[in-house]
Amino acid sequence: MINRINRNSLLKLILILFALVFIAAGLSFLFRQGSMTLEEYALKHPVQPQDNNENRDSVSSDRIPSHVSSNNAGTTVSANNAGATVSSNESVSGELMGKRLNADSMISQRIVYTDDFYYEPLSDALMAAMEGISYPAFDSLEEEPAVAYEDLRYVHLLHYDFHGNVAEGELICNASVAQDFVEIFHTLYQNMYRIEKILLIDVYGGDDTASMEDNNTSCFNYRTVEGSTSLSKHALGLAIDINPFYNPYVTYPEGQVRISPRGSEIYADRSREFPYKIDENDLCYKLFTERGFLWGGNWNSMKDYQHFQKIT
Ligand SMILES: [Zn+2]
Repeated sequence: MINRINRNSLLKLILILFALVFIAAGLSFLFRQGSMTLEEYALKHPVQPQDNNENRDSVSSDRIPSHVSSNNAGTTVSANNAGATVSSNESVSGELMGKRLNADSMISQRIVYTDDFYYEPLSDALMAAMEGISYPAFDSLEEEPAVAYEDLRYVHLLHYDFHGNVAEGELICNASVAQDFVEIFHTLYQNMYRIEKILLIDVYGGDDTASMEDNNTSCFNYRTVEGSTSLSKHALGLAIDINPFYNPYVTYPEGQVRISPRGSEIYADRSREFPYKIDENDLCYKLFTERGFLWGGNWNSMKDYQHFQKIT
């Protein structure tokens, strides 16, 4: 009797156990239909980071190694000759201001490095347009300006913009660095280095902040260092700011961090990877520093990642 009860109980127990195992297996199967392991998910959904694709393109094209340059020489010529591929990108008046004002008036003194890369003195028309904007008006200073018009040069060049199109650019610089600039910008061009725009600061009314916010690359501007009374190297045409929005100017007034231009705060974090970032691996950095320019990103008391200057 006792044995029979025990046997029956045992059989029931075994059946219940089987039933439990069966239910658990069924539930497990159902769950696996709806969800999957991380490995399975990863296999079905390969990573496609949209931002990274764009970054990778931009970064790689920004930093095409210099061996590409010899191949690009042909492209340079054809792009120049095609004409249609060269787009003027002046945002304000539709045509490059300095090119329009100088026209061919200084052609006898023009020094052509190659094709569209040349420099020449400023014409009377260009000087008149700069007066009181990027160059001080005669009555605004007690002394002579620290740089004379005769010491400045108008530089014309080509560059690749952010869309990968060839664009015309222009800048005004000190005569002592004009040859450096045509050589550097020609190499940047051969390497398809992306610079959004290179317009005279006069297009922005001489307003450095407006130029930076518009990511304009510029050189000469008779102004003091931002936040101080000392004359900037830009006032002598010996400094240039490249893609300034992506390479901001960072100062530390009274222990506070101040980042300029407005909106570029995210790019002050140089541990991040992003397009148009100037660092010591950047082609701009290499070309400028090997010609004796100092990079503002190497300074300690402040960081001016957009800035290269030459002490002559
Ligand atoms: Zn600067």
